Amino acid sequence: MTVTRFAPSPTGYLHVGNLRTALFNFMIARKSGGKFILRLDDTDQERSKQEYVDGIQRDLEWLGIEWDVVERQSTRLDRYEAAAQKLREIERFYECFETPVDLDLKRKKQLNMGKPPVYDRAALELSPTERDALRTERAGHWRFLLNQTRINWTDQILGDISIDAASVSDPVLIRGDGQFLYTLASVVDDTEMGVTHVVRGSDHVTNTATQIQIMESLGFDAPTFAHHSLLTGPQGEALSKRLGTLALRDLREQGVEPLPLLSHMARLGSSENVELMHSMQDLIDGFDLTSFGAAPTKFDVADLFPITGRYLAAQEYAAVSDSIAALGVPADIGEAFWETIHGNITTRHDLADWWALCRDGAEPVIAEEDREFIAAAMALLPDAPHTDATWGEWTGTVKAATGRKGKGLFQPLRRALTGQDAGPVMAKLLPLLQVIKAKG
Ligand code: GLU
Repeated sequence: MTVTRFAPSPTGYLHVGNLRTALFNFMIARKSGGKFILRLDDTDQERSKQEYVDGIQRDLEWLGIEWDVVERQSTRLDRYEAAAQKLREIERFYECFETPVDLDLKRKKQLNMGKPPVYDRAALELSPTERDALRTERAGHWRFLLNQTRINWTDQILGDISIDAASVSDPVLIRGDGQFLYTLASVVDDTEMGVTHVVRGSDHVTNTATQIQIMESLGFDAPTFAHHSLLTGPQGEALSKRLGTLALRDLREQGVEPLPLLSHMARLGSSENVELMHSMQDLIDGFDLTSFGAAPTKFDVADLFPITGRYLAAQEYAAVSDSIAALGVPADIGEAFWETIHGNITTRHDLADWWALCRDGAEPVIAEEDREFIAAAMALLPDAPHTDATWGEWTGTVKAATGRKGKGLFQPLRRALTGQDAGPVMAKLLPLLQVIKAKG
């Protein structure tokens, strides 16, 4: 059975970059009738917060990305300890005592000499006595001893990858304060939870190389890996610093709807065009991991709004009736209101403006040369209630009385009634106008 996982650290809210990872893993599992795990990488007790756990779950629920099981790394520390013990037994784990300052100095020296900044394994040379002495000064951290061979895998997005382990520092798996680090915890979880496909951002490619070796040393087969490209801004600029402003909860606040957002993210960076899907099932059916390329993917938040508008325009009244009722639109005109304005909104927030226009009337916009014409037209407008037929009858009468026709007839009337140059079909809007300020 296909098993995937989405493994955010609850140290912040989800953003569009995380969403891509979540969505890919979710769709792979659903497409094959497999299992999708939400794994909270919360071994960092200081930075992990329940508020973020709740936020992550709320965002995924909002999007309809449902997980089959949720796992928390903080409840599995004994498993990581067991793996660490095994690595010690097979002599692939060694204790180091360098401080961050020591390590920084080493790196700078190596760089000055034109060498790659790879940890020099000095701790392997310590005698037991030296080690004991160092232990009295500070707690040691633990590194995995890489086999300095090439690590190869066929990545489902990047193709054949080969990384020379000698170009990578032995990864620290346990910090001086005893905290298990992600690399070890992730390996233990992925193997023990039977994860078959690890899909994550290409910033993890080097981790993957080391994780493959750790898995193998613990006696496990490596799963299939796929590394999707990272998002950049519209000009190709790095997005990492701006991702905080692209939190899913902010997009929700701004009125972006789940299905258009998912439709956009499920295709961005693939060889397929972005297409507004009608349901999650359509998205799943149309998803193909192999259509994604390795090149950085440009993301422009502005693209989410037109697709949201198209999605809303196609919605039945039932899908939006709650939002409309919440504005105080009387129940008997709610549906007519929606049928009239649904093609003229980008997000649900725009409903409020249209309702304000209907409820309060608009400030008329009347050009100097249209003053007389509008006064004459308003005198001919029958009193409310108006029906769908009123506009046609009224403009027919106005045409006969003033001799105006076409744009010269209709446009000044629209501006006088709505204060705008464009908008919904006037025949439908007119009966909804509770107040017509131009009538005086
Ligand atoms: N917690 C890690 C991250 O958010 C998970 C990476 C992975 O998928 O293995 O980057």
